[in-house]
Amino acid sequence: MAAIAILSDIHSNRQALDAVLEDVARHDITRWWCVGDIVGYGADPQYVLEICLTAPERCIAGNHDLGVAGGVPLDAFSSWAYDAVAWTQTVLGLEQRVALAQLAPTDFDHAVPLVHASVRDPIWEYVLGVEEAKASLELVREHVTCIGHTHIPAAWHRAEDGTITEVPGQGVVELVPGRWLINPGSVGQPRDDDPRAAWARLDLDANTVEFIRTPYDIAGAQRAIRAVGLPEILAERLGEGF
Ligand code: ZN
Repeated sequence: MAAIAILSDIHSNRQALDAVLEDVARHDITRWWCVGDIVGYGADPQYVLEICLTAPERCIAGNHDLGVAGGVPLDAFSSWAYDAVAWTQTVLGLEQRVALAQLAPTDFDHAVPLVHASVRDPIWEYVLGVEEAKASLELVREHVTCIGHTHIPAAWHRAEDGTITEVPGQGVVELVPGRWLINPGSVGQPRDDDPRAAWARLDLDANTVEFIRTPYDIAGAQRAIRAVGLPEILAERLGEGF
């Protein structure tokens, strides 16, 4: 099985997605999966959605996608997230909204499950620590499960005896026996104080995951957000990665 690029939380960031897909190709990777939150926050939902509906081998929805598609109540979003979801609804065509509404927040039909947030709550729960990771890892049997949602690259390992270990989402991590929860971080709105786009290279033959950062045209993404009148915070945070 060839290596697979894992992309999550692209969030309508055209500049970041373009740069990451070029980097994926430079790594000689031809397959990629999208772990949700295709839209929301950023200025190019049509462009990013068009790619995510056609190019990845697998693609699930995140809470922002479901918000735009009408699948979850909008009062669950923070004010600037709400503004972006509401604006995204106005710019997507009917066909794209219908396509978005057909995506589910989980895909358990393969050897590597994809869930947007967590296994016990695929839409909303943030897996930020050992407790949440443990709850998810108790619910799967597979060697590797991919998640997103927090915008922070990280991995958690569950050993045979149930012990959970958190592994920083940096460099190459060897996927030793047991169960793994892998979060590649966010392509379009990183929140770990590193503004570069984040993604991961999963190699199931070598049993490794590599956490990768890709520089992109942040100023261009910020200009696009300001040009369509989305909240300033959404542009500002891209520069710092928070
Ligand atoms: Zn997100």
